[in-house]
Amino acid sequence: MRVSVIGTGYVGSVSAACFAELGHEAICVDVDERKVSMINAGKAPIWEEGLEELLEEYAGKRIIATSDYDLAVQRSDVSFICVGTPSDEKGNIDLSIVRSAAMSLGEAMAKKDHYHVVVVKSTVVPETTEKLVIPLLEKHSGKKAGKDFGVAMNPEFLREGKAVYDFMHPDKIVVGAIDERTFFMVSELYRGLDCQVTHTRPTTAEMIKYANNTLLATKVSFANEIGNICKKMGIDTYAVMKEVGKDFRISPHFLNSGAGFGGSCFPKDVRAIIGKAEELGYEPKLLRSVIDINEKQPLGMVRLLEQKTGELQGKCITVLGLAFKNDTDDIRESRSIPVIEELLRKKALVTAYDPMATEHMKKVFPNITYCDSAAEALQDADACLLMTEWDQFRRLDKEFATMKRPLVIDGRHLLDPKDLSVKIEYEGLCW
Ligand code: NAD
Repeated sequence: MRVSVIGTGYVGSVSAACFAELGHEAICVDVDERKVSMINAGKAPIWEEGLEELLEEYAGKRIIATSDYDLAVQRSDVSFICVGTPSDEKGNIDLSIVRSAAMSLGEAMAKKDHYHVVVVKSTVVPETTEKLVIPLLEKHSGKKAGKDFGVAMNPEFLREGKAVYDFMHPDKIVVGAIDERTFFMVSELYRGLDCQVTHTRPTTAEMIKYANNTLLATKVSFANEIGNICKKMGIDTYAVMKEVGKDFRISPHFLNSGAGFGGSCFPKDVRAIIGKAEELGYEPKLLRSVIDINEKQPLGMVRLLEQKTGELQGKCITVLGLAFKNDTDDIRESRSIPVIEELLRKKALVTAYDPMATEHMKKVFPNITYCDSAAEALQDADACLLMTEWDQFRRLDKEFATMKRPLVIDGRHLLDPKDLSVKIEYEGLCW
């Protein structure tokens, strides 16, 4: 089949590359000409394991990129909306980019003679597809949904860093289609993947994505709350959660306590569904606590540091890890950001290192010192904060010996001081 993908960030570029891998033709549309040129040159616009290899293989053959909606709609049967859905200043979902993409698609569909399907893949609060996207498509195309064109909501569950693998090995594919014809066409695109495709209503599909993400975020904040209580009693929360996770009703995943969750999805999605609940007159107390715990959690790193070192003014503090998690260069809502802000507020001298995310963080904090390796960043430091679970940080050892004071505050349970050949002063955030 022929697919167009609107928005070529993490979700769009990975979807296009994977649809090509599944044998379809993919046209990528982006307003960012730099991304368009990169994709046409077979280069990945963002870092994702395996993405560049797929783009290298298919660019100019099964994948092309353009900023022209008309071309994309004329030359495809199905268009996926994969644009960003950030938070507005109140934390509610900002649907302006979805609105603009739907309008552009509608205008392009007005010029097309054949049936077309529009699929919302962006994460949008329930009712967005039916109450915002369909009316915009109808208004700007002059056509009727369910007759002249099909519409579906198909949430994406991929993990950044493992996005290509996750797309090709999904544990669920949900298609909230307005009718059987649309459902059939979208399901056909996923033929070849070993996964059942579930047909629901668009609103149910939208809610499945939020329920999924908010439950995962809730597990993390729950683990952090238990971890904070454990810390006060000297109980190893990891020993606790290891046993808790053996219960098949719970599963061992997302029970790691630490500095909290970040990224482009969990914080904004929890806030967006809080906003939607409020709009409906419901007070979502549990979800508010999930955010509240997550905002306080990283500051515990600085509190522990101060307990050990006293005043931070003029102290050289090394922050290892800037990406919101390992295997990505994405720093959106990274827990390192509030930590560095707090360190700077207390007039510490901050040195940082991350294997991938340095360039992005330079735009947020242009005036801290960035190093090319963890070893360089640790030299002469008064303390080190471990913020991201990069594998290479688990292997650090003799590097700590070059610190002025080998004090390590671990926010991700990366080290066990017993395994090190050098002696360090170690403090875990919740253990
Ligand atoms: P992103 O910000 O990385 O990419 C969005 C892209 O859309 C950008 O390249 C931008 O230039 C482009 N764009 C903006 N306006 C446009 C327009 N009018 N027309 C065409 N392109 C336009 O976003 P992302 O991380 O890929 O997320 C996209 C959506 O998918 C969001 O709703 C997000 O919540 C959801 N999602 C993200 C992930 C993830 O891990 N990143 C996982 C699942 C779902």
